[in-house]
Amino acid sequence: MALEKRTWAEPFKIKVVEPVRIPTQAEREHAIREAGYNTFLLRSDDVYIDLLTDSGTSAMSDRQWAAMMMGDEAYAGSRSFYRLEAAVQNWYGYKYVVPTHQGRGAENLLSKTLIKAGDIVPGNMYFTTTRLHQELAGGTFVDVIIPEAHDSKSLHPFKGDVDLAKLEQVIKTYGAERIPYVSIAATVNMAGGQPISLGNVKAVGELAHRYGVRVILDAARVVENAFFIQNREPGCEGRTIASIVKELCSYTDGCTMSAKKDPLVNIGGFLAVNDQAIYDDAANLAVIYEGLHTYGGMAGRDMEALATGIEESLHEDHIRARVGQVLYLGKKLTDAGVPIVLPVGGHGVFLDAKAFLPHIPQEQYPAQALAAALYLDSGVRSMERGIVSAGRNKETGEDNKPRLELVRLTIPRRVYTQAHMDVVAESVQSVFEERACIRGLTMTYEPRYLRFFQARFEPLGA
Ligand SMILES: *Cc1c(COP(=O)(O)O)cnc(C)c1O
Repeated sequence: MALEKRTWAEPFKIKVVEPVRIPTQAEREHAIREAGYNTFLLRSDDVYIDLLTDSGTSAMSDRQWAAMMMGDEAYAGSRSFYRLEAAVQNWYGYKYVVPTHQGRGAENLLSKTLIKAGDIVPGNMYFTTTRLHQELAGGTFVDVIIPEAHDSKSLHPFKGDVDLAKLEQVIKTYGAERIPYVSIAATVNMAGGQPISLGNVKAVGELAHRYGVRVILDAARVVENAFFIQNREPGCEGRTIASIVKELCSYTDGCTMSAKKDPLVNIGGFLAVNDQAIYDDAANLAVIYEGLHTYGGMAGRDMEALATGIEESLHEDHIRARVGQVLYLGKKLTDAGVPIVLPVGGHGVFLDAKAFLPHIPQEQYPAQALAAALYLDSGVRSMERGIVSAGRNKETGEDNKPRLELVRLTIPRRVYTQAHMDVVAESVQSVFEERACIRGLTMTYEPRYLRFFQARFEPLGA
């Protein structure tokens, strides 16, 4: 029977609980106004079910907590570093590892090491921090994802795939010497958590390497990606998640990792590469931006939790329940006729704000308005992934206008139960029924970098 149809249960029992509370209607109205209609600026005490992000919000296991007690806090050469290094080598297969405080620390080291002014970095859709670090290092991102990724209705099973012809054209147009690496994300967050196929990663590797260009993986959600490969890619049904992850990584030359995602920890990351010269440069830069190359901004205990988390993240029953919970919420919403990005991705359900609020033009931030309306309805916190997140064009200063205008309901790993998902679905449905009353927003404060984090808004016609 297909996974979507079977009953599943969380593969754990709960040992510690953290109470949550529903803020009153008056409290919610006050809180969202104070937050400038930006869910990033809400206090978590004012939130009931927090689906802002799956980043650093995972619940750790008893084994991870036990491992933390074994942390070696030596400044240099910590035993915990060598345990982390061995886990990365064993499960992902890369040779050299530099720990970083989180994913963007690794992106900074990588971009500064490999990118020079005027360089071009092709990738399967951008990610906010990744593209910003590429740009700050003097590079320009070029999107080479297949066109289906930009279509919220396309049912393509691997919407994260690279358009190989387009990638080759980019390499030919700019010349391989101007392309420090191809930037591959698995899964693609901005497309709705959509996977890239194993066959496509292999083909990207072969194509890039033929021109002497490296491939760097954004591995934050590579395990969720492997789950979709196992379930959808011909020939991969019987394979283990661990073997798929290892093979996928083998077609690339290194990775940046936000360990706050798949690897089940609350903070941390790393850069991993196979080329010793790149490692030497990055390890040296780490001393400036992160810390000594054997801790890079992580406590010894955090490296222990990460080493254990990497292994747990690859367990079949874990990943099946993790993605299963996301698919469960997605199915409830599609059954209710709510427009969402299909197929449902690995870490969250993405509401299609353009279809949800057709009366609000993109200049009035429909996804931002929808996220605020959902919070007002029930205290459920989500996040905008549309025109606010897309920022401005580096040259012209104009707003980037993405085709996808989305609200992300991101599910933390091992934190909420299926009953929480029922509450969320009910709230989205109720907002959908009342959607005609939702008004657009105007931006009253715009920060210079990554504006979605700190921008403030007011409702129009208030
Ligand atoms: C979260 C994330 C990053 C950035 O990592 P941080 O740990 O938040 O600094 C980069 N890429 C992807 C795909 C991510 O999800």
